[in-house]
Amino acid sequence: MTMKVAIVGVGKIARDQHVPAIAASADWELAATVSRNGVVEGVEAFADLHSLLSSRQDVEVISLCLPPVPRFAYATAALQAGRHVMLEKPPGATLSECHTLERMAREAGVSIYATWHSREAAQVAKARAWLKDKRLRSLKVVWKEDVRRWHPGQEWIWQAGGLGVFDPGINALSIVTEILPDPFHLTAATLEFPENRQTPIAASLTFAHPHGAEMSAVFDWRQDGDQTWTIQAETNGGFLLLSEGGAKLAIEGEIQAETETEDNPLQGEYPRLYAKMAKLVRSRGIDMDLTPLTHVADAFLLGQRVIVEPFNE
Ligand code: NAP
Repeated sequence: MTMKVAIVGVGKIARDQHVPAIAASADWELAATVSRNGVVEGVEAFADLHSLLSSRQDVEVISLCLPPVPRFAYATAALQAGRHVMLEKPPGATLSECHTLERMAREAGVSIYATWHSREAAQVAKARAWLKDKRLRSLKVVWKEDVRRWHPGQEWIWQAGGLGVFDPGINALSIVTEILPDPFHLTAATLEFPENRQTPIAASLTFAHPHGAEMSAVFDWRQDGDQTWTIQAETNGGFLLLSEGGAKLAIEGEIQAETETEDNPLQGEYPRLYAKMAKLVRSRGIDMDLTPLTHVADAFLLGQRVIVEPFNE
């Protein structure tokens, strides 16, 4: 039976990924949207969440596609109204508010899902399976992209709570925490803040790993030309390279069979997220893994702050 979902925030990710993933799924029907500005053709549109919650009791699931800072108020309203909630990444602006949401969902007996779309990239599961019985010697993340190309006109990413370069960087951390069998923790960070902005444009991170493996990550939003989203791991059993944000995998230099990702690395990620949400709702399950956000919070806690030249669009 199809379940009715409403999308809140009809912005870039809602239009690019959520609407098509819902449309392509037999599990879901897009029953309504909540937006101050946008509509999805043929779908009932509400200007605010409270009107939707009071007039559409049949909508069981609320999928929040807003930036992290405003999301908490919408999530609490949905949970208080007894609805299941799906959260875009990062699941919140702070760890405490995410813990609060999880507690509220448990008390209400409804599902909540902190989604990490990059974990659903085509080759992530294969990388995880390969690394499972290996001993890690080193791991290096390089996540370099052009902010002007991927976030044109998005002011919230530069405001407090908007995460800056950690908005894409947390995707890398969501993959690393998924594929490595052992936990690790941040030991040092340098964050580069443009002098006119509240969030970093670049960051370099160092982690401690229980086997003493060298672990580092570099995130940079000032990358012209080729864009880089790679994770390289050296182990006792060989060398792994996950590239294109998890869409491509090479082991010992040999490219692994590609699936559906040739010209759109996000293809497949959101259908898999909605399939997982359908399962969670049916079992009243909760999936609220906050590990990637914890590493980001640690970087803001421990990171050295460097002021760099102003950023203007
Ligand atoms: P966006 O287009 O800038 O914003 C999404 C929508 O959020 C806006 O259209 C607006 O909806 C609503 N919104 C923005 N500020 C708000 C505020 N202060 N109060 C209430 N609503 C507000 O952002 P996005 O790129 O879609 O990103 C949204 C989330 O998805 C972020 O957490 C991001 O990390 C994640 N995400 C983005 C991408 C991507 O490629 N862009 C990929 C994966 C995940 P209305 O105008 O409809 O009210």
